[in-house]
Amino acid sequence: MKKRVYIDMDNTLCDFTSKSEEMKALSKGTLRYPQSKYGFFTSLEPLPGAIDAYRKLEEIFEVYILTAPSYLNPLCYTEKRVWVENHLGLETTKHLIICKRKGLLKGDYLIDDHLYPEFEGEQIQIGKAPFETWKEVLDYLLVLA
Ligand SMILES: [Mg+2]
Repeated sequence: MKKRVYIDMDNTLCDFTSKSEEMKALSKGTLRYPQSKYGFFTSLEPLPGAIDAYRKLEEIFEVYILTAPSYLNPLCYTEKRVWVENHLGLETTKHLIICKRKGLLKGDYLIDDHLYPEFEGEQIQIGKAPFETWKEVLDYLLVLA
């Protein structure tokens, strides 16, 4: 049986921080939560290596995208779904799970920039040593597979 991997979206597959900082700067400090603006989530760029990493991982693992919603932006549910179709294709939208409590999901690995103490599998915190980028994440997971 294939091992199951969950992959986060914001600051894992998509560059949330760059867009957020850009919009805050443009608003001259009046916009505190850019993610509350409609269109924010569809406008995010993929992080370097993220799309390629997803494709490599899905060859070996059972892969799902596991993302928490932004409660300030009810359209984020649709926007996240559109982002996945735009960058990973229509088939991949079947692998999208939007859930605030990631620890409810059963699986072997969670790749995420945040830690979820409730998750029972192994957590790979991307953006922090020893997993600074997707390259380190892939080097680690492809050996284990
Ligand atoms: Mg995140």
